[in-house]
Amino acid sequence: MTDCLFCKIVAREIPADIILETERALAFRDINPQAPTHVLVVPKSHHKNAAALAQADDGLADDVLKACHDVALQEGVSDSGYRVVFNTGLGAGQTVFHVHAHVLGGRSLTWPPG
Ligand code: C5P
Repeated sequence: MTDCLFCKIVAREIPADIILETERALAFRDINPQAPTHVLVVPKSHHKNAAALAQADDGLADDVLKACHDVALQEGVSDSGYRVVFNTGLGAGQTVFHVHAHVLGGRSLTWPPG
């Protein structure tokens, strides 16, 4: 999608602090981190939200989830605990409509989220 911010990051048209890349997913640090580890994991192909990702072909959602786990391992937060969040829709606070998982860790995380 030409006017999508995260498609532009995938295409390297906009800079980002990329920490992991797989065949179909990309992980980069959030520019406004809410925890010591705050990484966004996106599929390289454009899907507007988690619901669309769930309906994508060929196990793409699995690839994104596996990339989240690899990010947690790489960041050293897999043992202490981390959170994977898909804000889905305006009411849930989604602001960028290219599906992305927030991988948050490195501090104590409270529940319920705000
Ligand atoms: O879930 P939501 O859509 O609100 O998350 C979008 C996230 O994208 C925000 O956490 C924001 O800080 C991040 N962002 C980014 N790089 C950009 C623009 C937004 O990491 N260039």
